[in-house]
Amino acid sequence: MHLSNEFLLQCAKRYGTPIYVYNGDLILQRYRELFEFIPWPKLRVLYAMKANYNPAILTLLGEQGAGIDAVSPAEIVLALKCGYQENQILFTANNLTAREMHVAHALGVLFNIDTLSTIDRFGRIFPGSDLCLRFNPNVVAGDNAKVQTAGEASKFGILLSELSTVKNLVKTHDLRIVGLHIHTGSGIKNPRKSLKAMQNLLEIATPENFPDLQFIDFGGGLAVPYHPEEERIDYASFGKNIAALFGTFCENYGRELGLYLEPGKYIVAESGYLLMEVTSLKNNQERRFANTDSGFPHLIRPVLYDAYHHIVNLSNPHGSLRTYDICGNICESGDCFASGRSMPKIREEDILAVQNAGAYCYSMGGLYNLRAMPAEILTLNGKERMVRRSSSEEELVESILAECL
Ligand SMILES: *Cc1c(COP(=O)(O)O)cnc(C)c1O
Repeated sequence: MHLSNEFLLQCAKRYGTPIYVYNGDLILQRYRELFEFIPWPKLRVLYAMKANYNPAILTLLGEQGAGIDAVSPAEIVLALKCGYQENQILFTANNLTAREMHVAHALGVLFNIDTLSTIDRFGRIFPGSDLCLRFNPNVVAGDNAKVQTAGEASKFGILLSELSTVKNLVKTHDLRIVGLHIHTGSGIKNPRKSLKAMQNLLEIATPENFPDLQFIDFGGGLAVPYHPEEERIDYASFGKNIAALFGTFCENYGRELGLYLEPGKYIVAESGYLLMEVTSLKNNQERRFANTDSGFPHLIRPVLYDAYHHIVNLSNPHGSLRTYDICGNICESGDCFASGRSMPKIREEDILAVQNAGAYCYSMGGLYNLRAMPAEILTLNGKERMVRRSSSEEELVESILAECL
């Protein structure tokens, strides 16, 4: 399912570097296989669009019937423009202002709120509304401390122990709780922790506490391998466990509820490549630097999380191995995609591909050092097309000046 070296090299040649390339067929496969893995008739997948908000990807998934997990009002606006209906979008805001509340409410989406005072404010402004509540399942899981979104060190979610306060607020403002939600973390490698978090939430999801539930949303966090030697998690067996757990829960609850998941990384991470050209080689005593025409504003995960991204030398895949620091063109000494990495011999003008660059890469990008973000290419059925262009130096500066008063 990987795009071939030859094809990626052709893309680099045809469109120039740096450039993002996404494998649309793999995105579709990852989306569809979730429905095979999790045998639950009322399964819904809300794509976490913060992972990659390219409109072509949003449209592709929308055509498959996906919903959207949006985390800001602008994400809602973009999803609506890409053809999603209001009732397919869940708005999981964190630290929402009153203004954002009005904007999102006018757009007609269901809110998922994770803070007591915000429930109170929402209830005062919009009494009698439907609402989803995000709880903190009190399980610590995720690839890295920065992407662990539950447990007592996390700012997210309502503590399970605050249930009675929640119920009072719900009653005061006549809110109808139609969904309960958790999102435990990103890249959870231990599915047992996910199951534990689900169990913790289901314990409070009784008809006595929440009689109007339509769905339970277990969030995202499904992991994919980033290292070639890392094993794939067996989501087929995990899916059966989820369906069994949920089936028992629904029997006790007395109704068959919707089971929602919000994967971002799982759907798009492996589809993406960042292609870059080696602009110079440099030896500093022991260290060998391969410097490229990209940098951390284009792909920040190694710098932000110490994340491993596999890097392939497309131009010389079978060269003899050497050790490199693979760096970018940004004026920061931390601007490296990998350090001490064993790679086939790199030459100037070789094209390198950073793998698993589909999730939290372009979308976390920025313009630091005033270099434009790369263009993006999407392939589908063996055909590729540019789905977002880059901008020239002139255009980049014009867009900045246009915002400056
Ligand atoms: C980021 C996020 C997700 C997606 O997480 P992945 O690790 O990409 O699956 C899902 N739900 C919420 C609320 C999020 O903030």
